[in-house]
Amino acid sequence: MPLDAALRDKILAAVEAGFDKQVAYTQDLVRFGSVRGQEHTVQDFIFRAMKQRGLTMDRFAMDREAIAAHPGGAPFSDTHSDAPIVVGIHHPRAEKGRSLILQAHIDVVPTGPADQWTHPPFDPVIDGDWMYGRGAADMKAGHAANLACLDALRRIGMQPAASVYVQSVVEEESTGNGALMTHLRGYKADAVLIPEPEGEMLVRANVGVLWFQVEVRGKPVHVREMGAGANAIDAAYRVVGALRGLEEELNREKAGRAHFEDIAHPINLNIGKIEGGDWASSVPCWCRLDCRIGIYPGVSAEETAKRIGACVLAFSRGDRFLANNPPRVSFNGFYAQGYVLEPGSDAEGVLANAHTAATGKPLKSFMTAAYLDTRVYALYDKVPALCYGPVSENVHAFDERVSLASLKRITGTMALFVAEWCGLESIDA
Ligand code: ZN
Repeated sequence: MPLDAALRDKILAAVEAGFDKQVAYTQDLVRFGSVRGQEHTVQDFIFRAMKQRGLTMDRFAMDREAIAAHPGGAPFSDTHSDAPIVVGIHHPRAEKGRSLILQAHIDVVPTGPADQWTHPPFDPVIDGDWMYGRGAADMKAGHAANLACLDALRRIGMQPAASVYVQSVVEEESTGNGALMTHLRGYKADAVLIPEPEGEMLVRANVGVLWFQVEVRGKPVHVREMGAGANAIDAAYRVVGALRGLEEELNREKAGRAHFEDIAHPINLNIGKIEGGDWASSVPCWCRLDCRIGIYPGVSAEETAKRIGACVLAFSRGDRFLANNPPRVSFNGFYAQGYVLEPGSDAEGVLANAHTAATGKPLKSFMTAAYLDTRVYALYDKVPALCYGPVSENVHAFDERVSLASLKRITGTMALFVAEWCGLESIDA
């Protein structure tokens, strides 16, 4: 049932009243340098923050076998995080409304050279409307907003009249296995909201993502007889050329695909890391590339993996050196399909109303060419999976920052969304 105007204003005022606390908690989260594999302490901090609020707590590890057996599970590598997943559960006194998952990831991408940052990457400096820091936008602000929107309701003596699962996951930036694990654990709700930094817009569609590694072997010789050897780094550059060809082919296939055909370059191949060779005066005998490529919704990771393998093999057959020394292609991260959020769900309607009430503007939607955890809930739970969050800049780059005015607005949207989607009951009836 739509909220009446007086209640709406009360909820938005409660968000305002708690905002300083929310910002301080967001800063606390940013101070944890929770790059891949180092999320244990921040997950412990979050566990305590949720427990203090009276949520029923669950903390669990990844089930490797279950993930391996699932089509959306990503392969484990030796850099896979073993930090736990944390879920805080709100149980209403009476289950009257629709249940909800509020999810956020706590892992952040590497900072790159610290000297390229204006402030140290894990120092959450506030300058004007912006909070800086690696993860400030992606997505510790959203993470804190998940709790802040419930705090706002509590501040006016209310709580959701349905179960709410607040999930803090890891591995969002590398495999998506954290979100998948919450699904495999058995958590399910009538809708999901993930407040990623999406510029106060709703994600209508996103790409799947595949990570792969190409290992090229060479023939080492002293540089004085270079012609007798084979340079693995040069060969890797030739393989990259072939992969760029596949990328263009995939981008041509946007024709006729809703949400994608009007985007200039929807499928991006990133050569993210290159390692190889041992010594400036030896012809290098090894080179390794770490790559990431997007996948259209409806296309499986397996199908794309086969095309990558076939592309590298076909190119190698025509290459004098690689024909007899084919590179090895392996998959060591994301193995995820994209999704489309079909318009017209009740959940989207409630979010759109909440957004308009909190921001004064209609809710826009868009396609993003990045991986999102919402895919797990959209593809495997088949429930409305809403990805919507604050304005940000420089995500995955230097001087990442989130707009605090925007964060307050989207927290207002979230509080109104929870109130209407779940319904409300008084805390002490
Ligand atoms: Zn993110």
